[in-house]
Amino acid sequence: MFIITACNNIKLQETKKPLTKEIFAMDTEITLTCYGENAERTLSEAEERIKEIDGLMSTGKADSEISQLNKKGNAKLSNDVYYLIKRAVEISKKTNGAFNPLMYPIMKLWGFDTKRYRIPGEKEIKEKLEFTDINSIVSDENTRKISLKKGMEIDLGGIAKGFTSDELIKIFKKNGVDGLVNLGGNVSVTERKPENKPYKVGIRSPYSGLLGVVTVRDKSVITSGGYERYFEKNGIRYHHIMEPSTGKPANSDLLSVTVISKDGMYADALSTGIFVMGKKTGIAFFKQNHEKFDIILLDKKSKIYVSNGIKNEFISKGFDVEVIKE
Ligand code: ADP
Ligand code: MG
Repeated sequence: MFIITACNNIKLQETKKPLTKEIFAMDTEITLTCYGENAERTLSEAEERIKEIDGLMSTGKADSEISQLNKKGNAKLSNDVYYLIKRAVEISKKTNGAFNPLMYPIMKLWGFDTKRYRIPGEKEIKEKLEFTDINSIVSDENTRKISLKKGMEIDLGGIAKGFTSDELIKIFKKNGVDGLVNLGGNVSVTERKPENKPYKVGIRSPYSGLLGVVTVRDKSVITSGGYERYFEKNGIRYHHIMEPSTGKPANSDLLSVTVISKDGMYADALSTGIFVMGKKTGIAFFKQNHEKFDIILLDKKSKIYVSNGIKNEFISKGFDVEVIKE
């Protein structure tokens, strides 16, 4: 908050200072940062929107639309949830099933819903894999009704944060303020900081510190990796990104996948999907679809692969970098 004074200079300086808000929602630490006159109002609106989306999409809340849909097998949905499921299904098909929003029965089997982790048997996994066929989701555009087959359950955890970032940035723009949103390390920014500067976004390293820094305007920078959420048993790490064809944590040769795009929701889904694909298939997928996004991959040999569109905006923190040829 600033005090209005007769001196315009002071007011100008004050508006350059960002206003921030920290919220815990969507199972993540969220930080909102705003510059400009309408910052305070914008942050309140943003917080409301986060709570609304969380209330609709959280599998952890029994009364959310997603939980109700999963429980009953069919439901008439809000615009937000219907739209997001539709996009998730499209991306699932586009990524040849590497991204799959029907992994919830599998997530539960491994204990990722309750944090009571366990290693399931092959038979149980096989049974639950029956419920992950993306073509079995029936949707009706007119009534916004979605129907699932018995046993199927939707999990928007791989896409909902990106959608939320997009919604928050829309609120910023509507109110004419600049700023950034950080949802557990996934960052979306507006066009500029004060003095028309771009944003420098740090990408977390799976080891410690940063992988690098990327300079962006009006983009989302979204990272997925097996180091984010996992449990360990007998020295083996089991992480939270599942390989839909096996029902087990993806055995990826990548340590982290960062997707940079104007479309945060797409970036979120693809960061998860490309992690599952691994380096070779992930790069091939990128080459076929590169007009919509850029990527920064870190493989298990600690080498970074960066796409041409972002190479000049990326500074690695000591890692060897190769540019992906398009
Ligand atoms: P985070 O949410 O930790 O940033 P991701 O965006 O990669 O990480 O999303 C991982 C979440 O997505 C999991 O916690 C789970 O809810 C869901 N999920 C797991 N495997 C898949 C998959 N293959 N496709 C789509 N969603 C997935
Ligand atoms: Mg994701």
